[in-house]
Amino acid sequence: MIRERLIFEISDKGKNGFRFPKLDVPENKSLNDRIPMRDSIKDFPQVSEVEVVRHFTRLSQTNYCVDKGIYPLGSCTMKYNPKINERIAQIENFITSHPFADPEMSQGNLEVLKTLEDVLREVTGMDAFTFQPAAGAQGELVGMMLIRACMEERGDPRKFVLIPDSAHGTNPSSAHICGYKVKEIKSNDSGTIDLDDLSNNMDKDVAAIMITNPNTLGVFENQIKEASEVVHSKGGLVYMDGANMNALMGICRPGDMGVDAIHLNLHKTFSTPHGGGGPGAGPVGVKKILEPYLPVPRVKNKDDQYFIDEDCPKSIGRVHSFYGNFLVAVKALAYILSLGPEGLREVSETAVLNSNYIRKSLEKEYHLKYKTPTLHECVFSDKYQKQYGVSNIDIAKRLIDLGVHPPTMSFPLIVHGALMTEPTETESKADLDSFIEAMKQIAEEAREDPGILKSAPHNSYVRRLDETAAARNPKLRWEP
Ligand SMILES: *Cc1c(COP(=O)(O)O)cnc(C)c1O
Repeated sequence: MIRERLIFEISDKGKNGFRFPKLDVPENKSLNDRIPMRDSIKDFPQVSEVEVVRHFTRLSQTNYCVDKGIYPLGSCTMKYNPKINERIAQIENFITSHPFADPEMSQGNLEVLKTLEDVLREVTGMDAFTFQPAAGAQGELVGMMLIRACMEERGDPRKFVLIPDSAHGTNPSSAHICGYKVKEIKSNDSGTIDLDDLSNNMDKDVAAIMITNPNTLGVFENQIKEASEVVHSKGGLVYMDGANMNALMGICRPGDMGVDAIHLNLHKTFSTPHGGGGPGAGPVGVKKILEPYLPVPRVKNKDDQYFIDEDCPKSIGRVHSFYGNFLVAVKALAYILSLGPEGLREVSETAVLNSNYIRKSLEKEYHLKYKTPTLHECVFSDKYQKQYGVSNIDIAKRLIDLGVHPPTMSFPLIVHGALMTEPTETESKADLDSFIEAMKQIAEEAREDPGILKSAPHNSYVRRLDETAAARNPKLRWEP
């Protein structure tokens, strides 16, 4: 493979992207001073137009992306999002409207927010939503702030939040930032909440439990209702991390399981590309008891007119400018309306089916710590390969050679050497089979020829990096 040269190496003094005809008027020298030239970078590259185009096109083609092939990182990181939703979010009226415009001039935008709220209420069984939080983790923090505000009004914000060890890592951090101390609840052998451990820890000092459902093992918390009852009986509230709603849509509703507050990740389940660090949205849904504390402004409607309600005296205030990341809400609504209720259900059913197809096809070759059937993702480990000196990173790197993006590695923490696979609903059977084929080939290589795994990837643009050195001594500047 030819190594792409750095743009600095292509540079040649005097090369330029364009050239004007010779001047037939006197040159205006003062203009030269105004040509925007970056001088903060030493030896700023000088290249022709075609060199720039080809350089960056070649670079873009060295990257693996969700438009190119299977991406087992799943909805949690990057699921394929239908292009139509992007197109709709690019409609001129959406992108040029200004949040300061009078509500009378923004009726369409407000209708989008209100309609999305109504649709998500139906999907989740909650009573009201805010779209302000920009991400899942911010949604969690907002959820905890709502719970604290409610508890404070009752007279005591309480001290602790209970979090199962299979929860997402952002949960304890959100509780902590909201001023709560975290107590960990154990998982049982099926990878779900140990109800005895929960009962032993639940008392009048506990404000809430935060349950990731399905949890980070991809296992449905089938005793969430019982868990909610235990927490409610002692005056606590139930927060559900609903980032993985991709597995539940149209099948069951958190609002029917005793959940008081939940966040969704529009940039995971509902069609905003995730992983590029771009804007996202972590709307928070609540039951009636928490509604008065939701962030302002709230979008409401009366007689077909949409209006903005800032008069919410118990509100925790603003957590984002204006209404949150509006265009993300547009994409989510486009996604939901284009699928319809049956379509949404089919998304979840297919996501779960695809994941279980992979789990069953690979369970002989790869160790599963938990035998419980999973929903939208399954967590293998490298335990069987370890005897040949092969670990999850070698498997992941070898997948790159075989044209597959590696799955999530070393997460969740309760599975050592984890390889968490989430195919999502969009992969065809042929694509799932090619992933399974690649994983089987690697399992065989581990037995027969582990060296090839230890030195992988071989066919990629960049070979195996020294990740420790890259993290400790990052080189972010070109030094000739
Ligand atoms: C992704 C994720 C989060 C955090 O969401 P961000 O938008 O990345 O902040 C929280 N919980 C779970 C279960 C997740 O998958």
